[in-house]
Amino acid sequence: MNEMERLKAEILRDYPRYTEDDRFTFRCHEQISCFNKCCADVNIFLSPYDILRMKNHLGMTSEQFLEDYTLMPTDQHQKYPVVLLEMTDAKDKHCPFVSDETGCTIYEDRPWACRMYPVGLATPAEDNPAAKEKDFYFMIRDAFCMGHEEDKGWTIREWLRNQGVETYDEMGKRFKEVAMHKWFENGKDLSPQQIDMFFTVCYNLDTFRRMIFQSSFLEKFEVDETHQEQMRRDDVELLKFGFDWLKFSLFGEPTITVKPNVLAEAEAKAQSSG
Ligand code: SF4
Ligand code: SF4
Repeated sequence: MNEMERLKAEILRDYPRYTEDDRFTFRCHEQISCFNKCCADVNIFLSPYDILRMKNHLGMTSEQFLEDYTLMPTDQHQKYPVVLLEMTDAKDKHCPFVSDETGCTIYEDRPWACRMYPVGLATPAEDNPAAKEKDFYFMIRDAFCMGHEEDKGWTIREWLRNQGVETYDEMGKRFKEVAMHKWFENGKDLSPQQIDMFFTVCYNLDTFRRMIFQSSFLEKFEVDETHQEQMRRDDVELLKFGFDWLKFSLFGEPTITVKPNVLAEAEAKAQSSG
């Protein structure tokens, strides 16, 4: 069991479980003695929506963002590709976006995990889709974090709202519908080509955009003009379409429609070769 798996097991077994109505006290501010301590030497998994927000904040393409700021760890137990924010190689391994004076320099578009801290979310079904246990919140109590000593009170719900987590959660739910799809039950694995497709759609959105608009894709699949225009202008619409595309292409769900002439050609070809 690696460090991450050990921690997950400990959280599921030992950590007190919080609901959205449960309360905690916490305050984080620039004058606190631990300011920025939480922004170093930390494992932050980036969701597709995290990457979309961060690369747009920085005015970068997804390719460049992935190259400059991320790591792609591989693990034989992983069902799908994941992306980690790469810490700098300074002695304290701080985040590339933290500034001594002002804290997070991408604050408005900081990732979901940074918004949630010190609240964590455990998903028991992540490693075992058949698990009946529901997701639950838990409290991360790093010894260096003095915010827990402050007396500002919150419910978990108030904290999530204050940190602007709602849109992240909405996109996170769509991502989970793909990443935790029932197709993965019974030990099914993605092929190397399917892993590439998953990675491109979820993390390398600008390449996915080229795949849609600079190939024969739109000659084969029904996407009305209005929707095409929305996807050209809005990365969020493109990512939502990408999730539908993955459900269709990986799991055979009817989320995308093949054009009738393409379907007829494919059927005729199948008959002539059969
Ligand atoms: S360690 Fe805790 S209190 Fe200190 S800056 Fe980070 S979140 Fe805020
Ligand atoms: S993205 Fe911002 S909040 Fe998150 S670790 Fe980096 S500096 Fe800290």
